[in-house]
Amino acid sequence: MDQIQSAEPTAADIAQRRWIYVPYDRVTDRTGPVAEQAARDTGIVLVESTAMAHRRPYHKKKLVLLISNMRHFALEQVARGCSVLYQFSPRSHGQALLDLQRERGLPELTAMQPAERELRLDLTQAVQDGLKLREVADTTWLSTSEDFTSVFGAYKPGRSYVMDRFYRRMRQQTGILMEKHKPVGGKFSFDAENRKPYKNQLPIPVPPAFTPDDVTQEVIDLVARKYPHHFGSISNFDLPTTQHDCDAMWRFALKHLLPTFGPFEDAMRDDQLQLFHSRTSALINLGRLLPADLVRDVEQSAGRSKIPLASAEGFIRQILGWREFMRHIHYQTDGYRLLDVPQEIRPATKRIPPAPDAPFTAPVNMPDPYIGATPSALNASLPLPAVYWGVKSGMHCMDTVVDQVIHEGWSHHITRLMILSNLATLCGFSPRELTDWFWFAYVDAYDWVIETNVLGMATYADGGLTATKPYVSGAAYINRMSNYCGHCQYDPKQSTGEGSCPFTALYWTFLERNQPNLGNNFRLQMPYATLRKKSSQEMVLLRTRAEEALAHLKSFSHPEY
Ligand SMILES: Cc1cc2nc3c(=O)[nH]c(=O)nc-3n(C[C@H](O)[C@H](O)[C@H](O)COP(=O)(O)OP(=O)(O)OC[C@H]3O[C@@H](n4cnc5c(N)ncnc54)[C@H](O)[C@@H]3O)c2cc1C
Ligand code: SF4
Repeated sequence: MDQIQSAEPTAADIAQRRWIYVPYDRVTDRTGPVAEQAARDTGIVLVESTAMAHRRPYHKKKLVLLISNMRHFALEQVARGCSVLYQFSPRSHGQALLDLQRERGLPELTAMQPAERELRLDLTQAVQDGLKLREVADTTWLSTSEDFTSVFGAYKPGRSYVMDRFYRRMRQQTGILMEKHKPVGGKFSFDAENRKPYKNQLPIPVPPAFTPDDVTQEVIDLVARKYPHHFGSISNFDLPTTQHDCDAMWRFALKHLLPTFGPFEDAMRDDQLQLFHSRTSALINLGRLLPADLVRDVEQSAGRSKIPLASAEGFIRQILGWREFMRHIHYQTDGYRLLDVPQEIRPATKRIPPAPDAPFTAPVNMPDPYIGATPSALNASLPLPAVYWGVKSGMHCMDTVVDQVIHEGWSHHITRLMILSNLATLCGFSPRELTDWFWFAYVDAYDWVIETNVLGMATYADGGLTATKPYVSGAAYINRMSNYCGHCQYDPKQSTGEGSCPFTALYWTFLERNQPNLGNNFRLQMPYATLRKKSSQEMVLLRTRAEEALAHLKSFSHPEY
């Protein structure tokens, strides 16, 4: 910290430079206001807010990643010749900026619009309170709101969106992976080819580990000391915190992982955390890696010997398709607050106590703007059980993935969807509690991306706005796509009786319970046809097994956080 503080701006710097506020989730000098001004004319403000860190029990590694990247960014900008004001504050970001303008006479600030809704609200309130701030468009995105509404129109309650339509439009509009107005390879999506389990067909490259430097070590010590009760382990922090290392992580993924990304995209293993996933989400969401650069790099290698087309297209679809799509849905529905679907009755924020030393107070004039939306189209509302906090359930798939999250604050897409969320949806756990859990447990989680993925894609709490059917399965899918079941006490081939896999009984009873809502869903016709063929005797056994499994999960008490 001494290095940053010794670069404190002089009164002349404050008066003469043009000052830019860099939000914690837009830490970049490659696009936006910081990229557009000469360093010698630029002053940069960053805020490290304890109120934000205390708002929920964020994974310790998320706090280290975020804070250390901000501190390194500050040093990188000083080295470029910018003047940097790095503000520590117990207050929110907006209030900290107000304090700076009042106390240091800082002139009007320019800022790229942050992605996280909470920060946008915080800044809006500060502006109402007198902050001089000019917000400019967020140029890290690959699409605009108009791109989205030109495909779907403005949001109306009751409507649904299909990602594929938006993705096709974005491919056509940007020309990415297009040739003479046609998709390269003859189709827009190669998803159907990307569903292989991983059975040691080829070695998995070992991703680089970034040893903490002095700056990161200082942050690790700070987080360990100040936030000891937060979720997750801080041991062996090895994520990138400098721009150089963030770029190195991406170059590794591009060269070694992306060529095999597609085929094994959906595979899960208990001995491999990352498989061929890039693990770049946290860096993209911070602004350290730009979606445009990633898409360009992959497109340039697509179809050549470097990255087969199915892998390149699969990866580009995640970024140009899913990531942009989710952000628009969040924006259009104000984080699902505008949805016309049944809501959960129980208060969503129950488990998030205010921090004792730095409570976050909702700004005046904004009644409860930070309370998350609570759609629950399938009427799910059971409390999230202790297994999500690392208490062992004996279900090897769950225990493995939760363990990965505790240690790394990350697991890949299919484990999030088909293990953690699948179990919650099948059991009827509160979608909001699950969302809040993901929000603090994952290093890449921010409201715009976590609410859409959990309330939308993963739990169907939005009633089908984001996904055409709930992503649920019994043991057969998990057994096919992973090696979990081979190491589990339960038998994936048995659906009833002692020792049978809980997922399967939970799956059939989920379908039975939700028949009024889902029975006519065209994508669930086959499972419902199979359900109808089951004898009443088998259904009694399935219900008994599902009840036992649920009672077992509920029987563990929560660890204190
Ligand atoms: C329940 C659930 C929770 C999720 N929570 C988050 C989250 O908090 N933050 C987050 O960034 N992603 C989230 N995702 C989306 C996706 O799982 C992660 O982006 C991905 O697993 C990150 O790992 P990666 O960087 O290796 O991604 P890769 O598999 O290498 O994919 C490349 C990139 O595509 C983007 N991407 C892919 N799918 C999505 C998606 N559905 N939504 C948004 N971006 C996507 C990410 O930026 C990712 O880095 C969630 C998905 C589910 C089902
Ligand atoms: S048998 Fe069931 S609980 Fe065990 S790992 Fe397989 S799916 Fe999970």
